[in-house]
Order: sequence, then structure tokens, then C-alpha cells
Amino acid sequence: MAQSFVEPDSTPLALLLLGRQADPDSERGVECPGDLPPASDPDLVSRAQAAKQALGDRLYILGHHYQRDEVIDFADVTGDSFKLSQQAAARQSAEFIVFCGVHFMAESADILTSPQQRVILPDLAAGCSMADMAADYQVDAAWQTLTRWGLSDTTIPITYMNSSADIKAFTGRNGGSICTSSNAQRSLEWAFDRGDRVLFLPDEHLGRNTAVRRLGLSLDDCVVFDPHQSDGGLTEDQARSAKVLLWKGHCSVHGRFSPESVDDVRQRVDDVTVLVHPECRYDVVAKADLVGSTEYIINTINAAPPGSAFAVGTELNLVRRLAESNPDKTVVFLDKTICFCATMNRIDLPHLVWALENLVDGNVVNQITVDPATAQWAKVALDRMLALPAS
Ligand code: SF4
Repeated sequence: MAQSFVEPDSTPLALLLLGRQADPDSERGVECPGDLPPASDPDLVSRAQAAKQALGDRLYILGHHYQRDEVIDFADVTGDSFKLSQQAAARQSAEFIVFCGVHFMAESADILTSPQQRVILPDLAAGCSMADMAADYQVDAAWQTLTRWGLSDTTIPITYMNSSADIKAFTGRNGGSICTSSNAQRSLEWAFDRGDRVLFLPDEHLGRNTAVRRLGLSLDDCVVFDPHQSDGGLTEDQARSAKVLLWKGHCSVHGRFSPESVDDVRQRVDDVTVLVHPECRYDVVAKADLVGSTEYIINTINAAPPGSAFAVGTELNLVRRLAESNPDKTVVFLDKTICFCATMNRIDLPHLVWALENLVDGNVVNQITVDPATAQWAKVALDRMLALPAS
């Protein structure tokens, strides 16, 4: 069966999401010093190859699964954020870790790598809308509210990897653990062995999907803590009787999928298996056939027999590559509208060339560093996750 994949139309919105038009707010104050090569430069590929060769073993390029093809082509390893950070830490000979991903990932890599390794993010505008939805002052205020209600001693913070180093450090200081989309269930079980309820940060949907679908809690056991409302928009009784306090945050990419997308693709594609990431909304996950992390999605499609058909609810760059690498299967994007991660797409070949050539010239640009006190507590929370028993 022919591989099936349709590139969305290049509308102005699409171009903005692809990072090909200016976004003055996100770019403010983060322009690259010096000359960024023009995207039209025909020598970009050879320049990147030459710089990579010149740096040799001193360089290790990490490519997140959601990166553009032009960037992934230069990655020494691809994976999700946690796997990439672990790989960087294991590669002690690499002095420069160029992280083709987003800011929180580079922070995690800096926390997990040794002091002599330097982590570089080719474009500082590559943030994450979900991580930005939980600022440290908001989380501190929420904890003060729980403390005032006498609940903080019995509430365990569980924080998704997709969060700033500050929020990871908050988690470490307050007896909590980090989780990934692969081990969220084990992390919640760990937390319920230690407390009466969980404060799940910053992804409302991963928290709800895990609590209800994997732990068997009810939807009523989960309440949303909205940092933009006084006391999170909750009464003390509501917080006290809840099992999971879900921070009101979401992924702007996975949050775009709807139950209607699932209904529509079942009409369009015969015998389709709908496979979605747990960052999708609960009502989308409830209608899907399979739910799992990025690695689970990749492994499921790669292992499927020829002739299988999948509609995938995750980031578009990854879905397109899965379609291209599985030409004997039908792999379509779950939604008809574009769903790139705009900030992931900030990292393009011009920024990669710019960062690599500066390293060749002895200039370390866009280094990401986490201050030692924050790094210490964030690592406590990461180490608690690493100590979780295997499933
Ligand atoms: S896909 Fe979502 S969670 Fe991942 S970096 Fe983009 S906005 Fe953040």
C-alpha cells in the first residue's frame, strides 16, 4: 500500500508555525549575534558538514523527534528529551552538546551532564508553550495556598519533564519526582505511596489521562488548579477531597486534536488504528485505539505488518518521517490542519550552521546553564524518577 501523507497548505499561519515568518514577541531580545546565514544559502549543508567534521568527537548533536528533517539529518542521536539528555551524559568525550530541541530540554541536559560539557541551544527562541504555563512564582503561590489549607504536607508534586529547571527544583525541594509520558503511571503510584494527593505539573491532560485511564481514579477525583484564578479557582474542600490537582497547562500542539478529528479520520481511512500521545485531551484519548509516548508510537508503527493503517496524533515532523520510513503502510496525520510545534521549528539549518561555525571559531554561543542550587534540587527530582522500579 502506498504511503499516504499530505503536506498542509502554506498559509500565513502555516508559515508562522514553521518559523518562516517573524514572531516579534518570541524573537524579542534573542537575535543571534553576528551573521545568521540566509536560509537560501546553497552551501548550508556543506557548511554544516565541514563544521561538524572540524569539531569531531568534541561535538555531539542531539535531535528531538519533533525536529525538522534538515536538522535531524545532522543529529548523532535522535530521541525524546530524557533519552537525549542521558545519551549526552554518557558521552563524556563530547565537550559541546548541541541540543536541537527546546529550552527545557537543554536545561535538563545541562543538569545531567558533567561540568566540563557545555550545552548549546542553536536558537534561544526555541521555548515550549507548556513549560511556560507553569512559572516558578505561580507554582510557589499555589504551594503557599496548599500550605495555608494544611494540605502541602500530604500533597506530592509530580512534574512532567516538559517543565523549566525551576519547576523541577521546586519538585525536588518538596518531596516530589519528575515523570515522562512513559513512566507517568509509576510516578503517580510512587506518589500515592507517600501522600494523599498529587499536584501534577504542568500538563493537565497527561495527568488526567494517567490518573483515570491507568490508575482507575474517576474524573471527579481530579480537579484543575488554574494559576490565573485566586486559590487556583478551588475551594479548600475541593482541594482537600481531590486525589489529583491538575495544573492548568497543556501542549499547544497535542491540545489541537479533537474528538471530531478521530471521527473524521475513521470515515476517511479504512481499518485505521488511531494512535495518540497522552498529551492529547481526555476526550480524544478516550476515542483512540492506542495511547502512548513518542517512543511507543514509533515502535508500534515500525513493528506493524505491511498494509496497516494508522492515524497519528502527535507532532507533524515525526508523523511525516514515520510515513516516509514505512512506505508499505498508510500513516496519516490525525488532524487536517497543520500541527507543527512552532518553537521546535525555530531550530533550522541556518541556526545550526551559525552555532557550529562559532564553535569551530572558538566562540561558545547560546550556552544554556542552570544555576547550581536549582540544578541540585532539579537533579534530586530527576534521580527519584530514575530510582522508580521498572514496570
Ligand atoms: S510539542 Fe508541545 S510540549 Fe513539546 S515542545 Fe512543543 S509545545 Fe512543548
